[in-house]
Amino acid sequence: MSKSYFIEDFDPQSRFDDLGRFEHKFWEKKKLEEMSREEWEILCDGCGKCCLNKIEIKNKVHFTNTHCRFLNCGNCSCSIYEKRFEKVHDCRDIDLKAVREKPRWLPKTCAYWLLDNGYDLPEWHPLITGKAASIHDAKMSLKDRDIVSETGIKDYDNYIVDWEDL
Ligand code: SF4
Ligand code: SF4
Repeated sequence: MSKSYFIEDFDPQSRFDDLGRFEHKFWEKKKLEEMSREEWEILCDGCGKCCLNKIEIKNKVHFTNTHCRFLNCGNCSCSIYEKRFEKVHDCRDIDLKAVREKPRWLPKTCAYWLLDNGYDLPEWHPLITGKAASIHDAKMSLKDRDIVSETGIKDYDNYIVDWEDL
């Protein structure tokens, strides 16, 4: 694989440095389907938990503590963001269909899922704090968790986790 696919200098804070370009608390005034592409994108809290591998058993999705090999565990971002659908056949676009899919496969802290289900953004969301790192400080992301890369793993059922924020 070409090294050029990798994003090595992405600074997650850069997403939140100019929040003044958005309407104040737009997420309280608009439904998900009314949001612009830019509003939709900035809603992502950068937790990385949607990049954990999951198994569906009896109509329930179980998260494992194995992560996509392209997850940057240092800042919980995708290291091949622009090429992710090309390179990872089961990488999912986070769109309305994904947010509303049943059984739920996004973590229950996911900003899209929260808003679509009538909840507000939590106090640690970077849109509230203005700081990308606030999700890590609140221990709501994958940073510093007991996670392992999926590379070489076949017995995913041995890696199921039951974390409260999944
Ligand atoms: S779970 Fe939701 S909020 Fe967290 S990184 Fe994925 S899309 Fe973004
Ligand atoms: S390729 Fe998809 S699943 Fe893998 S880290 Fe990137 S966004 Fe997450």
